[in-house]
Amino acid sequence: MSEQKVENVIIIGSGPAGLTSALYTSRANLEPLMIEGEEAGGQLMITNDVENYPGFEHGITGPELIATLRKQAGRFGTRFITKNVTQIDFSKRPFKVTVGKDEYFAKTIIISTGASAKYLGLPSEKQFMGRGVSACATCDGAFFKNVEVGVVGGGDTAMEEANFLTRFASKVYLIHRSDSFRASKIMVDRARKNPKIEFITHAAVEEVLGDGRSVTAVKLKNTQSGEVNEKKMQGLFIAIGHQPNTKLFKGVLDMNDAGYLVTKPGSTYTNVDGVFAAGDVQDPIYRQAITAAGTGCMAAIDCERWLEANDEAH
Ligand code: NDP
Repeated sequence: MSEQKVENVIIIGSGPAGLTSALYTSRANLEPLMIEGEEAGGQLMITNDVENYPGFEHGITGPELIATLRKQAGRFGTRFITKNVTQIDFSKRPFKVTVGKDEYFAKTIIISTGASAKYLGLPSEKQFMGRGVSACATCDGAFFKNVEVGVVGGGDTAMEEANFLTRFASKVYLIHRSDSFRASKIMVDRARKNPKIEFITHAAVEEVLGDGRSVTAVKLKNTQSGEVNEKKMQGLFIAIGHQPNTKLFKGVLDMNDAGYLVTKPGSTYTNVDGVFAAGDVQDPIYRQAITAAGTGCMAAIDCERWLEANDEAH
């Protein structure tokens, strides 16, 4: 039997957190192996202008930022596999990472699988995805000039997206299933003061209606009276939160109620020794590219020090 190769570190996920971990671990000569996923790059790949990533005075597009970070990590020897991890075994050392038919082994793992936007789960929502339905106002808002659109949700994201969309749309309906908002008061007040935003509370989206090519209206059900009516609009933005990509780690790594990985405060240590988490997968609060990159750097340094202390062969 041929001897299995054991990597120093496997990084799972390729947003700013994973790529920063790759940059740091490759510069530390750990020769990281990154399993970047089939949809490599994460949420930034669907983000148009990134104006708040320090160092880019005039902004940069999400895909450009990812491409630059990827090249920077590759320059120091990071190897990439553009596939999804299908299984992980943390019960034995080295850890085993399965990617389809292939198996990889590693002394340490950095998890940076990020988070994905949540959807309502309606078949019609899926049908009109990219043709009027979107989960990213920043990415798609500009396609909705001088038309009426809706935003679903009652959190800060929904308020922010509704305000942002008034730059383009003639009217924005803020559709929320109750009349109590998780969003901060200041964000709700700002949205309420915006003359282009109309609140529709106690309303649940039942169906997205369209003419086959684009959205024309949304069927809304009053959550108190049960009454159903149609509201004409050309776009619907879903802003009901994010889901961390942690399915692979259920029952093994500690998570909070929302499924975010829990790290030891002030570090990227998970509850399994030698497994670190960085970026949105462990951050329900800040969720910024720069904070993801920051925790990616922390994970790389935690990983380096862990190998230094625990791995005699290193
Ligand atoms: P939240 O979890 O805060 O809010 C989600 C909203 O979506 C809630 O109003 C919830 O309603 C609603 N919702 C959830 N599921 C459904 C569903 N199936 N159908 C209809 N409505 C649904 O998520 P956000 O993304 O808004 O915010 C996440 C975090 O990011 C928060 O901590 C927030 O403060 C932060 N953030 C901060 C910003 C800022 O300060 N500038 C900007 C954006 C986000 P219900 O309340 O009824 O459950």
